[in-house]
Amino acid sequence: MRIQTVLKTLAAAAAASTAMLSAPAMAQQKFMTIGTGGVTGVYYAAGGAICRLVNKDRSKHGYRCTVESTGGSVANINTVRAGDLDFGVAQSDWNYHGYKGTSSFEKNGAFSDLRSVFSLHPEPFTVVARAEANVKSFDDLKGKRVNVGNPGSGTRASMEQLLAAKGWKMGDFSLASELKADEHGAALCDNKIDAFFYGVGHPSANIQDPVTTCGAKLVNITGPAIDKLVADNSYYAKATIPAGLYKGNDQATQTYGVLATFVTSAKAPDDQVYTLVKAVFDNFDEFKKLHPAFAHLSAEHMVKDGLSAPLHPGAAKFYKEKGWLK
Ligand code: GLU
Repeated sequence: MRIQTVLKTLAAAAAASTAMLSAPAMAQQKFMTIGTGGVTGVYYAAGGAICRLVNKDRSKHGYRCTVESTGGSVANINTVRAGDLDFGVAQSDWNYHGYKGTSSFEKNGAFSDLRSVFSLHPEPFTVVARAEANVKSFDDLKGKRVNVGNPGSGTRASMEQLLAAKGWKMGDFSLASELKADEHGAALCDNKIDAFFYGVGHPSANIQDPVTTCGAKLVNITGPAIDKLVADNSYYAKATIPAGLYKGNDQATQTYGVLATFVTSAKAPDDQVYTLVKAVFDNFDEFKKLHPAFAHLSAEHMVKDGLSAPLHPGAAKFYKEKGWLK
């Protein structure tokens, strides 16, 4: 009798302690996924940096953060809308059009549940050409083999806007290839294309590569059509890529561009968004060191610049606590 009681007590205690250990641990395991871009771009680095900071405090808040490589801005907004990603990085022009249902988003209609979290680094639109292609300005691309970006990328959608503004068509290039950013550098140095177009933070690994491997050159994107584009659209601004940032490119490159923004859906729980922004801003000095494109970020600008979709309440709560928002 006595031994049975002891065994029962032990079994009950074991069951209770297993329950005590595993039930809360299981209940606490929550996930968040960030859609980025090609693995050699800056979005992927941004997602990685954010997840690293979120995961540092996983035992406190219970969220495990993971990053996905995707087609880029437009794909990220569509995937957040479908509920298959919690967060995505998207150019400020596609943040604007996604929320309003204009331009590339006209077919799907306004994504009125699109929410901004913060903005990130500037993304100047960048033309990189083979040294031998003799491309000195955007206009020299006529009749050339140009990578216009993969469908789903913000790059590609913004290229379409640029061509429309200039009164050009894809057919004005002898080839308009749709390679992903991870592939455009090798294609350039292999002489499969003369130039590629890319909206990205600087420095970016997939520009550094062809610049060092085959002496590729950055090209200005300027002129009356650009002046008008920037004047007519609040999400565009003139931009300069500093001299000497890329080897052999010793003059500053004049162009225009957007800001990278971080987005989610109104359906995302407040505590999930709050957890993410707290991880970034409580570790802001560390965050800024995780990629050179983040070095000049400031919280004051990140909570308002380039954000057409309204702030998610989970983000706004943190910014109000900090006094960054009234
Ligand atoms: N802005 C690019 C796009 O949406 C992606 C840039 C990056 O991956 O850093 O196509």
